[in-house]
Amino acid sequence: MGQLVARGHELTSRPDEADVIVVNTCSFIHPAKQESVDTILEMAEFKKNGRAKKLIVAGCLVERYRGDIRRQLPEVDAMVGTNELEQIVALSEGGTAQASSAEPYLYHDLTPRVLATPRHYAYIKIAEGCDHPCSFCVIPQFRGHFRSRGFESVVAEASRLLSRGVREINLIGQDTTCYGEDLGIKDGLALLLKRLARIETARGKWIRFLYCYPNRITQKLLDTMAAHDALVKYIDMPLQHASASVLKRMKRGASGDVFLKLLARIRSSVPGVAIRTSLIVGFPGETDRDFEELCRFVEAARFDRLGVFSYSDEETSESCHLDGKVDKRTVYNRRRRLMALQRRVSRRGNRALVGRELEVLVTGLSAESELVWEARLATQAPEIDGVCHIEDPGEVAPRAGQFRRMRVTRAHDYDLAGSLVDEAPVEETEAAEALFPILP
Ligand code: SF4
Repeated sequence: MGQLVARGHELTSRPDEADVIVVNTCSFIHPAKQESVDTILEMAEFKKNGRAKKLIVAGCLVERYRGDIRRQLPEVDAMVGTNELEQIVALSEGGTAQASSAEPYLYHDLTPRVLATPRHYAYIKIAEGCDHPCSFCVIPQFRGHFRSRGFESVVAEASRLLSRGVREINLIGQDTTCYGEDLGIKDGLALLLKRLARIETARGKWIRFLYCYPNRITQKLLDTMAAHDALVKYIDMPLQHASASVLKRMKRGASGDVFLKLLARIRSSVPGVAIRTSLIVGFPGETDRDFEELCRFVEAARFDRLGVFSYSDEETSESCHLDGKVDKRTVYNRRRRLMALQRRVSRRGNRALVGRELEVLVTGLSAESELVWEARLATQAPEIDGVCHIEDPGEVAPRAGQFRRMRVTRAHDYDLAGSLVDEAPVEETEAAEALFPILP
Protein backbone atom coordinates (compact mmCIF):
# COMPACT_ATOMS: atom_id res chain seq x y z
CA MET A 1 0.00 0.00 0.00
CA GLY A 2 2.86 2.33 0.82
CA GLN A 3 4.48 1.77 -2.55
CA LEU A 4 1.24 2.47 -4.39
CA VAL A 5 0.63 5.68 -2.43
CA ALA A 6 4.23 6.82 -2.94
CA ARG A 7 3.65 6.40 -6.66
CA GLY A 8 0.60 8.67 -6.51
CA HIS A 9 -2.19 6.10 -6.49
CA GLU A 10 -5.21 6.55 -4.30
CA LEU A 11 -6.32 3.74 -2.02
CA THR A 12 -9.92 2.82 -1.38
CA SER A 13 -11.40 0.07 0.74
CA ARG A 14 -14.54 0.09 -1.46
CA PRO A 15 -14.18 -2.50 -4.23
CA ASP A 16 -16.91 -0.82 -6.31
CA GLU A 17 -14.72 2.31 -6.60
CA ALA A 18 -11.43 0.57 -7.43
CA ASP A 19 -9.74 0.26 -10.84
CA VAL A 20 -7.48 -2.45 -9.46
CA ILE A 21 -8.52 -4.82 -6.68
CA VAL A 22 -5.81 -6.52 -4.62
CA VAL A 23 -6.80 -9.47 -2.42
CA ASN A 24 -4.17 -10.19 0.22
CA THR A 25 -4.49 -13.82 1.22
CA CYS A 26 -3.62 -16.25 4.00
CA SER A 27 -3.11 -19.99 3.60
CA PHE A 28 -2.13 -21.06 7.11
CA ILE A 29 -5.06 -23.41 7.74
CA HIS A 30 -8.12 -24.54 5.83
CA PRO A 31 -10.60 -21.87 7.04
CA ALA A 32 -8.12 -19.12 6.08
CA LYS A 33 -7.69 -20.61 2.60
CA GLN A 34 -11.45 -20.88 2.18
CA GLU A 35 -11.94 -17.28 3.20
CA SER A 36 -9.22 -16.19 0.76
CA VAL A 37 -10.78 -18.06 -2.17
CA ASP A 38 -14.29 -16.82 -1.30
CA THR A 39 -12.98 -13.24 -1.25
CA ILE A 40 -11.24 -13.67 -4.63
CA LEU A 41 -14.50 -14.94 -6.18
CA GLU A 42 -16.50 -12.15 -4.54
CA MET A 43 -14.06 -9.50 -5.83
CA ALA A 44 -14.09 -11.03 -9.32
CA GLU A 45 -17.75 -9.96 -9.56
CA PHE A 46 -16.60 -6.30 -9.53
CA LYS A 47 -14.72 -6.93 -12.77
CA LYS A 48 -17.95 -8.09 -14.38
CA ASN A 49 -20.31 -5.55 -12.85
CA GLY A 50 -18.17 -2.69 -11.53
CA ARG A 51 -15.34 -0.45 -12.69
CA ALA A 52 -12.49 -2.82 -11.75
CA LYS A 53 -10.23 -3.72 -14.67
CA LYS A 54 -7.80 -5.89 -12.83
CA LEU A 55 -7.78 -8.42 -9.99
CA ILE A 56 -4.46 -9.14 -8.28
CA VAL A 57 -4.00 -11.87 -5.69
CA ALA A 58 -1.16 -11.40 -3.19
CA GLY A 59 0.23 -13.23 -0.17
CA CYS A 60 0.64 -16.75 1.12
CA LEU A 61 -2.05 -18.43 -0.99
CA VAL A 62 0.07 -17.50 -4.02
CA GLU A 63 3.18 -19.05 -2.45
CA ARG A 64 1.34 -22.30 -1.78
CA TYR A 65 -1.02 -22.65 -4.74
CA ARG A 66 0.32 -20.51 -7.60
CA GLY A 67 -0.30 -23.21 -10.24
CA ASP A 68 -3.80 -24.01 -8.96
CA ILE A 69 -4.78 -20.33 -8.95
CA ARG A 70 -3.53 -19.95 -12.53
CA ARG A 71 -5.48 -23.02 -13.67
CA GLN A 72 -8.64 -22.75 -11.64
CA LEU A 73 -9.22 -19.02 -11.19
CA PRO A 74 -9.02 -17.41 -14.66
CA GLU A 75 -10.57 -14.24 -13.20
CA VAL A 76 -7.20 -13.50 -11.54
CA ASP A 77 -5.03 -11.24 -13.73
CA ALA A 78 -1.79 -11.29 -11.74
CA MET A 79 -0.21 -12.76 -8.63
CA VAL A 80 2.24 -11.32 -6.13
CA GLY A 81 4.00 -13.79 -3.83
CA THR A 82 5.41 -12.90 -0.43
CA ASN A 83 8.87 -12.25 -1.93
CA GLU A 84 7.54 -10.19 -4.85
CA LEU A 85 5.82 -7.31 -3.07
CA GLU A 86 7.81 -4.72 -4.97
CA GLN A 87 6.07 -5.78 -8.18
CA ILE A 88 2.71 -4.51 -6.99
CA VAL A 89 3.16 -1.09 -8.61
CA ALA A 90 4.15 -2.42 -12.06
CA LEU A 91 1.36 -4.98 -12.03
CA SER A 92 -1.25 -2.45 -10.92
CA GLU A 93 -0.18 -0.08 -13.68
CA GLY A 94 -0.62 -2.73 -16.34
CA GLY A 95 2.99 -3.86 -16.60
CA THR A 96 4.14 -7.44 -16.38
CA ALA A 97 5.91 -9.17 -13.53
CA GLN A 98 9.70 -9.02 -13.54
CA ALA A 99 11.71 -12.12 -12.71
CA SER A 100 11.65 -12.15 -8.93
CA SER A 101 14.73 -11.77 -6.84
CA ALA A 102 16.16 -14.92 -5.27
CA GLU A 103 16.44 -12.99 -1.98
CA PRO A 104 13.60 -13.48 0.50
CA TYR A 105 11.76 -10.20 0.98
CA LEU A 106 12.09 -8.18 4.17
CA TYR A 107 10.86 -4.62 4.40
CA HIS A 108 12.92 -1.87 6.02
CA ASP A 109 12.39 1.58 7.47
CA LEU A 110 12.69 3.27 4.07
CA THR A 111 9.89 1.17 2.60
CA PRO A 112 6.87 3.48 2.43
CA ARG A 113 3.98 2.14 4.48
CA VAL A 114 0.37 2.95 5.13
CA LEU A 115 -1.13 2.34 8.53
CA ALA A 116 -4.15 0.17 7.94
CA THR A 117 -4.77 0.07 11.68
CA PRO A 118 -6.42 3.01 13.46
CA ARG A 119 -3.85 5.71 13.76
CA HIS A 120 -3.11 5.27 17.46
CA TYR A 121 -1.52 1.84 17.17
CA ALA A 122 0.78 0.06 14.74
CA TYR A 123 2.48 -3.24 14.14
CA ILE A 124 6.17 -3.42 13.28
CA LYS A 125 7.46 -6.64 11.81
CA ILE A 126 10.93 -7.19 13.23
CA ALA A 127 11.67 -10.55 11.59
CA GLU A 128 10.31 -12.83 8.92
CA GLY A 129 10.31 -16.62 8.50
CA CYS A 130 10.84 -19.35 11.06
CA ASP A 131 13.38 -22.12 11.71
CA HIS A 132 11.34 -24.11 14.25
CA PRO A 133 10.22 -27.56 13.11
CA CYS A 134 6.64 -27.67 14.53
CA SER A 135 5.11 -30.64 12.74
CA PHE A 136 1.64 -29.10 12.29
CA CYS A 137 2.82 -25.83 10.80
CA VAL A 138 3.34 -24.96 7.14
CA ILE A 139 4.43 -21.35 7.66
CA PRO A 140 8.18 -21.98 7.22
CA GLN A 141 7.42 -23.57 3.83
CA PHE A 142 6.24 -20.27 2.38
CA ARG A 143 7.76 -17.66 4.68
CA GLY A 144 11.25 -19.15 4.52
CA HIS A 145 14.12 -19.21 7.00
CA PHE A 146 14.18 -16.86 9.95
CA ARG A 147 15.74 -13.48 9.19
CA SER A 148 15.82 -10.38 11.38
CA ARG A 149 15.45 -6.81 10.26
CA GLY A 150 18.39 -4.56 11.10
CA PHE A 151 18.39 -3.15 14.63
CA GLU A 152 18.62 0.48 13.50
CA SER A 153 15.94 -0.03 10.86
CA VAL A 154 13.41 -1.10 13.51
CA VAL A 155 14.43 1.78 15.79
CA ALA A 156 14.06 4.28 12.92
CA GLU A 157 10.61 2.97 12.02
CA ALA A 158 9.43 3.01 15.64
CA SER A 159 10.72 6.57 16.13
CA ARG A 160 8.90 7.73 13.02
CA LEU A 161 5.63 6.10 14.06
CA LEU A 162 5.81 7.47 17.61
CA SER A 163 6.56 10.97 16.38
CA ARG A 164 3.51 10.80 14.07
CA GLY A 165 1.13 10.16 16.94
CA VAL A 166 1.15 6.37 17.28
CA ARG A 167 0.56 5.53 20.95
CA GLU A 168 1.13 1.80 20.93
CA ILE A 169 3.63 -0.27 18.99
CA ASN A 170 3.31 -4.03 18.66
CA LEU A 171 6.42 -5.87 17.52
CA ILE A 172 5.62 -8.99 15.52
CA GLY A 173 7.32 -11.82 13.63
CA GLN A 174 6.69 -15.57 13.48
CA ASP A 175 8.96 -15.77 16.54
CA THR A 176 10.05 -12.44 18.01
CA THR A 177 12.17 -14.08 20.72
CA CYS A 178 14.70 -15.27 18.08
CA TYR A 179 15.26 -11.65 17.02
CA GLY A 180 18.92 -10.98 16.24
CA GLU A 181 20.15 -14.61 16.37
CA ASP A 182 20.87 -14.63 12.62
CA LEU A 183 22.68 -11.27 12.97
CA GLY A 184 24.91 -12.66 15.72
CA ILE A 185 23.25 -10.46 18.38
CA LYS A 186 22.86 -12.21 21.73
CA ASP A 187 19.66 -11.35 23.61
CA GLY A 188 18.62 -9.36 20.54
CA LEU A 189 14.97 -8.83 21.56
CA ALA A 190 15.92 -7.63 25.05
CA LEU A 191 18.42 -5.15 23.57
CA LEU A 192 15.94 -3.95 20.98
CA LEU A 193 13.22 -3.41 23.60
CA LYS A 194 15.60 -1.51 25.88
CA ARG A 195 16.55 0.76 23.01
CA LEU A 196 12.95 1.34 21.94
CA ALA A 197 11.89 2.09 25.51
CA ARG A 198 14.53 4.82 25.62
CA ILE A 199 13.32 6.67 22.53
CA GLU A 200 12.29 10.12 23.77
CA THR A 201 8.83 9.93 22.20
CA ALA A 202 8.20 6.46 23.72
CA ARG A 203 7.73 8.01 27.16
CA GLY A 204 4.19 7.31 28.34
CA LYS A 205 3.48 5.08 25.31
CA TRP A 206 3.08 1.31 25.06
CA ILE A 207 5.59 -1.00 23.39
CA ARG A 208 4.54 -4.63 23.24
CA PHE A 209 6.01 -7.69 21.58
CA LEU A 210 3.94 -10.67 20.51
CA TYR A 211 4.54 -14.36 19.64
CA CYS A 212 7.32 -15.73 21.87
CA TYR A 213 8.74 -19.23 21.68
CA PRO A 214 8.77 -20.62 25.25
CA ASN A 215 12.36 -21.85 25.46
CA ARG A 216 13.66 -18.52 24.10
CA ILE A 217 12.33 -16.43 26.99
CA THR A 218 15.52 -15.44 28.76
CA GLN A 219 15.92 -13.91 32.19
CA LYS A 220 17.44 -10.87 30.50
CA LEU A 221 14.28 -10.42 28.44
CA LEU A 222 12.10 -10.60 31.56
CA ASP A 223 14.33 -8.23 33.52
CA THR A 224 14.26 -5.75 30.62
CA MET A 225 10.46 -5.85 30.54
CA ALA A 226 10.29 -5.24 34.26
CA ALA A 227 12.78 -2.36 34.16
CA HIS A 228 11.08 -0.06 31.61
CA ASP A 229 7.67 1.58 32.01
CA ALA A 230 7.13 1.83 28.25
CA LEU A 231 7.37 -1.96 27.85
CA VAL A 232 3.93 -3.46 28.30
CA LYS A 233 3.81 -6.22 30.91
CA TYR A 234 2.32 -8.76 28.56
CA ILE A 235 3.64 -12.06 27.25
CA ASP A 236 2.03 -13.82 24.32
CA MET A 237 3.57 -17.27 24.29
CA PRO A 238 1.84 -20.00 22.25
CA LEU A 239 2.41 -23.29 24.12
CA GLN A 240 0.18 -25.49 21.89
CA HIS A 241 -0.21 -28.33 24.44
CA ALA A 242 0.86 -29.58 27.88
CA SER A 243 1.17 -33.34 27.39
CA ALA A 244 4.82 -34.31 26.85
CA SER A 245 3.88 -37.00 24.32
CA VAL A 246 1.74 -34.62 22.22
CA LEU A 247 4.43 -31.91 22.41
CA LYS A 248 6.97 -34.49 21.22
CA ARG A 249 4.80 -35.39 18.22
CA MET A 250 4.40 -31.67 17.56
CA LYS A 251 8.23 -31.48 17.53
CA ARG A 252 8.14 -28.72 20.14
CA GLY A 253 9.28 -30.62 23.24
CA ALA A 254 8.94 -29.67 26.94
CA SER A 255 5.94 -30.56 29.13
CA GLY A 256 3.25 -29.05 31.34
CA ASP A 257 5.57 -29.11 34.36
CA VAL A 258 8.31 -27.28 32.47
CA PHE A 259 5.76 -24.68 31.37
CA LEU A 260 4.38 -24.21 34.91
CA LYS A 261 7.90 -23.46 36.15
CA LEU A 262 8.41 -21.00 33.30
CA LEU A 263 5.09 -19.27 34.08
CA ALA A 264 6.11 -18.94 37.75
CA ARG A 265 9.43 -17.41 36.71
CA ILE A 266 7.74 -14.95 34.34
CA ARG A 267 5.27 -13.88 37.05
CA SER A 268 7.91 -13.43 39.71
CA SER A 269 10.22 -11.50 37.36
CA VAL A 270 7.58 -9.19 35.85
CA PRO A 271 5.04 -8.16 38.51
CA GLY A 272 1.53 -7.65 37.14
CA VAL A 273 2.31 -9.41 33.85
CA ALA A 274 -0.61 -10.77 31.80
CA ILE A 275 0.09 -14.01 29.96
CA ARG A 276 -1.64 -15.13 26.79
CA THR A 277 -1.24 -18.51 25.15
CA SER A 278 -2.79 -20.55 22.39
CA LEU A 279 -3.40 -24.28 22.41
CA ILE A 280 -4.31 -26.88 19.82
CA VAL A 281 -6.82 -29.64 20.59
CA GLY A 282 -7.29 -32.78 18.50
CA PHE A 283 -3.67 -33.13 17.39
CA PRO A 284 -3.14 -36.63 15.87
CA GLY A 285 -2.62 -39.14 18.68
CA GLU A 286 -4.10 -36.88 21.42
CA THR A 287 -5.75 -39.35 23.81
CA ASP A 288 -8.40 -38.68 26.46
CA ARG A 289 -5.58 -38.82 28.99
CA ASP A 290 -3.54 -36.21 27.10
CA PHE A 291 -6.59 -33.97 26.97
CA GLU A 292 -7.32 -34.38 30.70
CA GLU A 293 -3.70 -33.41 31.36
CA LEU A 294 -4.19 -30.32 29.22
CA CYS A 295 -7.32 -29.36 31.21
CA ARG A 296 -5.48 -29.75 34.53
CA PHE A 297 -2.66 -27.63 33.12
CA VAL A 298 -5.02 -24.82 32.06
CA GLU A 299 -6.58 -24.84 35.57
CA ALA A 300 -3.15 -24.63 37.19
CA ALA A 301 -1.63 -22.10 34.75
CA ARG A 302 -4.35 -19.41 35.22
CA PHE A 303 -3.70 -17.78 31.85
CA ASP A 304 -5.02 -14.26 31.57
CA ARG A 305 -5.88 -14.87 27.90
CA LEU A 306 -6.24 -18.11 25.99
CA GLY A 307 -7.05 -19.06 22.40
CA VAL A 308 -7.96 -22.69 21.65
CA PHE A 309 -7.68 -23.93 18.07
CA SER A 310 -8.97 -27.14 16.56
CA TYR A 311 -6.22 -29.10 14.81
CA SER A 312 -6.31 -28.60 11.03
CA ASP A 313 -4.77 -31.24 8.75
CA GLU A 314 -2.64 -29.43 6.15
CA GLU A 315 -1.49 -31.62 3.29
CA THR A 316 2.14 -30.46 3.29
CA SER A 317 2.62 -30.58 7.07
CA GLU A 318 4.41 -33.46 8.77
CA SER A 319 1.57 -34.09 11.19
CA CYS A 320 -0.78 -34.75 8.28
CA HIS A 321 0.96 -38.14 7.93
CA LEU A 322 0.72 -39.07 11.61
CA ASP A 323 -1.67 -41.79 12.71
CA GLY A 324 -4.30 -41.44 15.46
CA LYS A 325 -6.44 -38.75 13.84
CA VAL A 326 -9.08 -37.49 16.27
CA ASP A 327 -12.67 -37.38 15.00
CA LYS A 328 -14.30 -33.97 14.44
CA ARG A 329 -16.95 -34.30 17.16
CA THR A 330 -14.32 -35.10 19.80
CA VAL A 331 -12.20 -32.15 18.67
CA TYR A 332 -15.25 -29.87 18.84
CA ASN A 333 -16.16 -31.07 22.34
CA ARG A 334 -12.60 -30.76 23.62
CA ARG A 335 -12.33 -27.21 22.34
CA ARG A 336 -15.65 -26.27 23.97
CA ARG A 337 -14.66 -27.81 27.28
CA LEU A 338 -11.32 -26.03 27.37
CA MET A 339 -12.87 -22.68 26.48
CA ALA A 340 -15.54 -23.14 29.19
CA LEU A 341 -12.79 -23.82 31.68
CA GLN A 342 -10.87 -20.73 30.62
CA ARG A 343 -14.03 -18.61 30.74
CA ARG A 344 -14.23 -19.27 34.49
CA VAL A 345 -10.52 -18.46 34.95
CA SER A 346 -10.91 -15.24 32.94
CA ARG A 347 -14.06 -14.16 34.82
CA ARG A 348 -12.33 -14.67 38.16
CA GLY A 349 -9.40 -12.53 36.98
CA ASN A 350 -11.69 -9.78 35.69
CA ARG A 351 -13.75 -9.71 38.91
CA ALA A 352 -10.58 -9.06 40.87
CA LEU A 353 -10.19 -5.79 38.93
CA VAL A 354 -13.59 -4.32 39.91
CA GLY A 355 -13.10 -1.13 41.89
CA ARG A 356 -9.56 -0.51 40.63
CA GLU A 357 -8.50 2.56 38.66
CA LEU A 358 -6.35 1.66 35.67
CA GLU A 359 -4.80 3.34 32.65
CA VAL A 360 -6.62 2.65 29.37
CA LEU A 361 -6.01 3.62 25.76
CA VAL A 362 -9.25 4.89 24.22
CA THR A 363 -9.83 3.15 20.89
CA GLY A 364 -13.06 4.78 19.69
CA LEU A 365 -16.82 4.47 19.81
CA SER A 366 -18.18 0.99 20.35
CA ALA A 367 -19.51 -0.66 17.20
CA GLU A 368 -22.56 -1.71 19.21
CA SER A 369 -23.70 1.61 20.66
CA GLU A 370 -23.06 5.30 20.10
CA LEU A 371 -23.30 5.84 23.84
CA VAL A 372 -20.46 3.53 24.75
CA TRP A 373 -16.77 4.04 24.12
CA GLU A 374 -14.17 1.34 23.87
CA ALA A 375 -10.70 1.28 25.36
CA ARG A 376 -8.02 -1.25 26.20
CA LEU A 377 -5.82 -1.91 29.21
CA ALA A 378 -2.13 -2.39 28.44
CA THR A 379 -2.78 -6.06 29.17
CA GLN A 380 -5.39 -6.28 26.40
CA ALA A 381 -3.65 -6.63 23.03
CA PRO A 382 -5.42 -5.18 19.98
CA GLU A 383 -7.75 -7.30 17.87
CA ILE A 384 -7.39 -10.49 19.91
CA ASP A 385 -8.11 -9.84 23.60
CA GLY A 386 -11.15 -8.47 25.41
CA VAL A 387 -11.84 -4.73 25.68
CA CYS A 388 -13.06 -2.16 28.21
CA HIS A 389 -16.45 -0.52 27.65
CA ILE A 390 -16.56 3.06 28.93
CA GLU A 391 -20.15 3.51 30.05
CA ASP A 392 -19.62 6.86 31.75
CA PRO A 393 -17.13 8.99 29.82
CA GLY A 394 -17.58 12.14 31.96
CA GLU A 395 -18.51 15.58 30.61
CA VAL A 396 -16.18 15.73 27.61
CA ALA A 397 -16.32 12.87 25.12
CA PRO A 398 -13.03 10.97 24.99
CA ARG A 399 -11.12 10.60 21.74
CA ALA A 400 -9.39 7.66 20.15
CA GLY A 401 -5.71 7.64 21.05
CA GLN A 402 -6.07 9.23 24.50
CA PHE A 403 -4.56 7.57 27.55
CA ARG A 404 -7.12 7.91 30.36
CA ARG A 405 -7.89 6.53 33.85
CA MET A 406 -10.85 4.20 34.14
CA ARG A 407 -12.50 2.84 37.27
CA VAL A 408 -13.61 -0.73 36.63
CA THR A 409 -17.26 -1.07 37.65
CA ARG A 410 -18.28 -4.41 36.09
CA ALA A 411 -16.57 -7.59 34.96
CA HIS A 412 -17.74 -9.83 32.14
CA ASP A 413 -16.15 -13.12 31.05
CA TYR A 414 -13.58 -11.43 28.82
CA ASP A 415 -14.48 -7.71 28.78
CA LEU A 416 -14.62 -5.04 31.47
CA ALA A 417 -16.86 -1.99 31.92
CA GLY A 418 -16.11 1.22 33.75
CA SER A 419 -16.15 5.01 34.05
CA LEU A 420 -13.48 7.55 33.24
CA VAL A 421 -12.32 9.27 36.41
CA ASP A 422 -9.75 11.78 35.16
CA GLU A 423 -9.99 15.12 33.36
CA ALA A 424 -9.83 14.98 29.55
CA PRO A 425 -6.28 15.94 28.52
CA VAL A 426 -5.72 19.27 26.81
CA GLU A 427 -3.36 17.82 24.23
CA GLU A 428 -5.48 15.85 21.79
CA THR A 429 -4.64 13.34 19.11
CA GLU A 430 -6.35 13.73 15.79
CA ALA A 431 -9.39 11.58 15.18
CA ALA A 432 -8.76 7.99 14.12
CA GLU A 433 -8.38 7.83 10.40
CA ALA A 434 -8.19 4.82 8.11
CA LEU A 435 -5.19 4.25 5.81
CA PHE A 436 -2.82 6.83 7.23
CA PRO A 437 0.36 7.07 5.09
CA ILE A 438 3.75 7.02 6.87
CA LEU A 439 6.20 7.89 4.14
CA PRO A 440 9.94 8.06 4.87
S1 SF4 B 1 7.22 -21.49 15.85
FE1 SF4 B 1 5.23 -20.83 15.01
S2 SF4 B 1 5.63 -20.24 12.85
FE2 SF4 B 1 7.41 -21.43 13.58
S3 SF4 B 1 6.99 -23.53 12.89
FE3 SF4 B 1 6.24 -23.35 15.04
S4 SF4 B 1 4.05 -22.74 14.88
FE4 SF4 B 1 5.03 -22.40 12.85
